[in-house]
Amino acid sequence: MKSVNRDELGQFLAKELQVSYFRDYCPNGLQVEGRDTIKHIVSGVTANLALLEKAVELQADAILVHHGYFWRGEDMRVIGQKHRRLKLLLKHDISLFAYHLPLDGHAELGNNIGLARCLGLLPDGRFGENDLGWLGWADNVQLNTMADLALHVEHKLGRKPLLIGDPAIPLGRIAWCTGAAQNMLDQAIAAGASVYLSGEISEPTVHLARESGVAYLACGHHATERFGVQSLGNFIAAKLGITHSFVDIDNPV
Ligand SMILES: [Zn+2]
Repeated sequence: MKSVNRDELGQFLAKELQVSYFRDYCPNGLQVEGRDTIKHIVSGVTANLALLEKAVELQADAILVHHGYFWRGEDMRVIGQKHRRLKLLLKHDISLFAYHLPLDGHAELGNNIGLARCLGLLPDGRFGENDLGWLGWADNVQLNTMADLALHVEHKLGRKPLLIGDPAIPLGRIAWCTGAAQNMLDQAIAAGASVYLSGEISEPTVHLARESGVAYLACGHHATERFGVQSLGNFIAAKLGITHSFVDIDNPV
């Protein structure tokens, strides 16, 4: 079985994901240092305790996630939940690699292109800071209204989305950004979208959607962000010959 050096993997991913290009609210790259040699990498959306336990069970050398640790503004003390998570990683000498915005934005491996492929959306533009918002059209002539799109999303993601707006509005240009990107709705409106898809929704989002006449589809934070780490893990496995396993720890939000 092939292996890769931990720091070489970090350098390889920093280059591939153009990490230095993004202003983010967490460190991107190696967040917790484990053993030098990596043969098996386990990926998941979030570095929660259940994912760490599964990685230990699978004898992983490293974990690759979209949501890691050390977010701006969080309590810096290593107590409670953070203590339990770090203790488990350090005890088993497992490295944690986390890629947040760089993994949303990547044109081939990212969450947004992954969501587009899953839903059959044809991208033709980007908007917002770091070009994190995407624009395009549905590659499916059967999708005529917002109600059609909502049903399509439900089938493809396995989760019923929340539609804000008239279900009968004709489907035009589509904007999307995975995760908690509800605050990009105004930019999606300015970009000429008929509907904006994201993971989460907030109370004010509803009013902006209603008052602008642009529909909003809240499709699930977790449900829209399962693509990036899977693509990246498969890419690493193909390029470097190491083993990759994706573990989905379900989250209804
Ligand atoms: Zn997210």
